[in-house]
Amino acid sequence: MIAFIQQKLIENAQGEKIGFQYAKDNVTAANIFLRLFKKEIQTMKKQEESIDHSARAHALLSASGASRWINCTPSARLEEKFENKNTSFSEEGTLAHEFAELNLKKQLKLITPKQYSTLVAPFLANEYYSPEMETEVQKHVDYVIQQFTAAKRVTKDALLLIEEKVDFSHLVEGGFGTCDDNIIADGVLEVIDLKYGKGVIVSAEDNSQLKLYAIGALRATELLYDIHTVRLTIVQPRLDSISSWEMSVDDLYKWGEEVVKVKAEKAYAGEGEQITGDWCRFCKAKAKCRALADESLEVAKHEFADPNLLSDSELLEVFKKSDLISSWLDSVTAHIFQSALEGKKWEGYKLVEGRSVRTWKDEEAIKERLRLDYDPTDYINEKLAGIGQIEKLVGKTNFTTLLGDLIIKPAGKPTLAPESDKRPELAQAKDDFA
Ligand code: SF4
Repeated sequence: MIAFIQQKLIENAQGEKIGFQYAKDNVTAANIFLRLFKKEIQTMKKQEESIDHSARAHALLSASGASRWINCTPSARLEEKFENKNTSFSEEGTLAHEFAELNLKKQLKLITPKQYSTLVAPFLANEYYSPEMETEVQKHVDYVIQQFTAAKRVTKDALLLIEEKVDFSHLVEGGFGTCDDNIIADGVLEVIDLKYGKGVIVSAEDNSQLKLYAIGALRATELLYDIHTVRLTIVQPRLDSISSWEMSVDDLYKWGEEVVKVKAEKAYAGEGEQITGDWCRFCKAKAKCRALADESLEVAKHEFADPNLLSDSELLEVFKKSDLISSWLDSVTAHIFQSALEGKKWEGYKLVEGRSVRTWKDEEAIKERLRLDYDPTDYINEKLAGIGQIEKLVGKTNFTTLLGDLIIKPAGKPTLAPESDKRPELAQAKDDFA
């Protein structure tokens, strides 16, 4: 048995499955040994179970979808009915994560410059790579290095784990995940997550995904480290946002036992009540979700006091639901259109060719013909590319140095935000923007 485990440990190390641990002392080495020992035991246990079952369960209750299945327990089983499609955003995000990992490894001197130039080549050739990705991913790498350097100043036993697989299956059926970067030092575990999208800022406060990662990471290290606090950090470089939040390990474990375990059981069984909220945003069942439809249409079905005109409070009621309604309508439209493209016939509708815009077939040939009778200044426009395009060309950091003083950023148009919004209230909106 021991010989078998030793062999597996050697294979793992050779296969670089654990190649990113930054370990320099015996305590860390012992930690890695114990963690791998545990991993092998878990792997052997799981091999006795159905592989399909565990793969399905993993996809069913993922850490990234935790806020959804915790708040709306039937959502996980409902989402199973819809295809899992990769989008250009998810492909780009995956590439950015791999690129961050490679660059961090290079900066920590875990690979040689020669190895780096070989490994980076496929990234540079990838269709989703851009100089912007280089700049943005570096912000994440800088943050991890900065935190790890600070941790090492506090204790020489500081540990950085990159792309660490975590297991929280004691709470969630098939509960596994991968943390981008974990730092352990002086009783604190920091779980750092890179989010490459630029849609909305995601707060680390009470973030279910990171809390589950933290529980998994604590399980793997509890034998050797006495951790009392977890710090959850989300880095969104393209939105210039780094959000951090701390909680005690006791509170985290309490949440795990009292909330996660209970909700995960219901979610796995597909039981409970459908509850709408922010977590519906990326739900695959969104377009066909009855709860979301009922809530969106509830406003329209409402019996208003005046049969002819809405009062201010009634208008406000409609306005409060406008985000929910428009997001639901968008997903219904997208679903119907996509399934029509895939061959579904919707009663009363047909696919037709939309409007198109004329475009030149051969610009050089056009110029050649016009040159005979017209002055080129009358038909050739020299136009500067857009700000975003030039920023991508020169890189974000260089852009500010090179062109920052030539950019004007006018005041944004007024927008109606909830009282809780951090931006100050506009005093003279009427005069300035009327
Ligand atoms: S869209 Fe429906 S099923 Fe999905 S999370 Fe929202 S309420 Fe639940």
